[in-house]
Amino acid sequence: MPTRSIYLETFGCQMNELDSELVAGQLRSLGYTFTPDQGAADIVLYNTCSVREQAEQKVWSRLGEMKKRKAADPSLVVGVLGCLAERDGHGLMDRMPVVDLMCGPGELDKLPALLDNAVRTRESLAADDPKRAGLRSARLAALQGNSSRRSGTLAAAEDSLELLDLSRSVSPVDVHDGARRSAYVRITRGCNKFCTYCVVPFTRGAEIHRPPNHVVDECKRLADAGVIEITLLGQTVNHYRFELDAALEVDGVVQPQKGRTYKGSHNRDSLAGDRVTTFADLLYRIHEEVPAIKRLRFVTSYPRDFGDDVLEVMRDSPRICRYLHAPAQSGSDSVLARMNRGYSIAEYDEFLDRARHFLHEPEKGRPLMLSGDIIVGFPGETDDDFALTIDLLKRSRYKNCFIFKYSPRPGTVAYDKIPDDVPEQVKRTRNNDLLAVQAEISDSISRQQIGRTFDVYIEGPSKAERKRQGLSKSDIRKAGQVAITVGGHSLEDDLSFSGKGVSGGTGFQPADSGRAGLRPASDTIQLSGRTDGDLIVFIDVPRAQAEILTGSIVPVRITDADRLSLFGELP
Ligand code: SF4
Repeated sequence: MPTRSIYLETFGCQMNELDSELVAGQLRSLGYTFTPDQGAADIVLYNTCSVREQAEQKVWSRLGEMKKRKAADPSLVVGVLGCLAERDGHGLMDRMPVVDLMCGPGELDKLPALLDNAVRTRESLAADDPKRAGLRSARLAALQGNSSRRSGTLAAAEDSLELLDLSRSVSPVDVHDGARRSAYVRITRGCNKFCTYCVVPFTRGAEIHRPPNHVVDECKRLADAGVIEITLLGQTVNHYRFELDAALEVDGVVQPQKGRTYKGSHNRDSLAGDRVTTFADLLYRIHEEVPAIKRLRFVTSYPRDFGDDVLEVMRDSPRICRYLHAPAQSGSDSVLARMNRGYSIAEYDEFLDRARHFLHEPEKGRPLMLSGDIIVGFPGETDDDFALTIDLLKRSRYKNCFIFKYSPRPGTVAYDKIPDDVPEQVKRTRNNDLLAVQAEISDSISRQQIGRTFDVYIEGPSKAERKRQGLSKSDIRKAGQVAITVGGHSLEDDLSFSGKGVSGGTGFQPADSGRAGLRPASDTIQLSGRTDGDLIVFIDVPRAQAEILTGSIVPVRITDADRLSLFGELP
């Protein structure tokens, strides 16, 4: 079969970005190539998100655009991966016959076989009746189905998706040109929380924890290939817990796993036994066994059940970032109960107090930075509930907060059972009010950093700098501007990642100081990077230095700040 080129576009969360990377690696090893040019691709794949309405609308619009292309090129294969495919199932193909294949997030290991089948099917359709072929879908699907939520104690031997994570290819070539020094590593899949507004427990299935040895080995392989920053991913990452007997073998090979490793000062009697690896143990193991990883962080934390053991490990491990993304979602207990969040505001406050007690050390240059998520206008939210949310925001003092207006998402409990009764205008007003409060807090936190010196991981030219130079994400390297790591996410020059905007949020990732665009072309270049607390920093450096600094961690003295950005200089 001739080489097929794929255009892959990713929407939504970091988990999707990692899925796309793994899928791309697997398909590349089978001989497929990737192109950033949708118009030149033989296969167009969209890795979708159904958590936010805006991301979903973008996918529908892209699929609409595909109709014309397919009419002109009947052999074109169009595929929808991810949560939207899982949620809508075959109804999606009925609505959009342009779609040939669908693959849910829990079935991505089956994508190569599906794709091969789809390519052959389209070729034969095009050969039989080229005029009608564009109107017919190959109708191939691999979906988990809502009824097949797998057990959280599922043995890894039965977990074929684990093989996709294990197949991760790490290319030293990527590392040498500076593009792969920051990476995601998944530690859990799925979610058992069933928040009433969220579709994830249905689309990604039950919570499954990856064997600790697999996670540590993956970190080692990434470190060997030059990666220095790893973000551990899980929908409720701090719930990681692996029982030794849960995974005896993978692919017929017995996988011995280490049990508890963390020997902190916490009262160990209250922790799990030696045959269990907790999240604290896993963090500790990675920190101790992979010292080449200079930065270890994790998202997303679930505010309940966040033990002191994790905070102790974070405090005692210098390479673990002082950063927590801990979504509260609302400041009102009654709204939280309707959301089925499983904690009260008193418990949330207690958690943040405890986290600050263990981790907030600004005098040592290690302040704890927090970020949050809030949904405004959830059904039944009154003015009093909203006032409580404003109070929560003021108390929590997030460096940034993702703020969303509620919109009912198909497939969720709230969509079916809780009437969306807050008027759109009220949602909009509350959203704006909250954004204004958060803007003041973010601005004040940023200004507190002036005069401090932070270690900053330099990601590469800022977005404004690239715009100023007329560089796209995909041709930075060709222009001699090395690292293609944007917003903490590595981008490969033959793989298109996009659509990861934060709809309705506070502009969490400016990646653009707004200042570079005004500067005339000069011998300096603006680089962007992040502190270990995830604060975004911009520095202007001589052009010749940019390549050397990119992908490294350097001290930066902060000289100025605005709401979402710090500006600094090399000491
Ligand atoms: S914790 Fe709640 S919001 Fe987060 S993925 Fe699970 S169900 Fe969704």
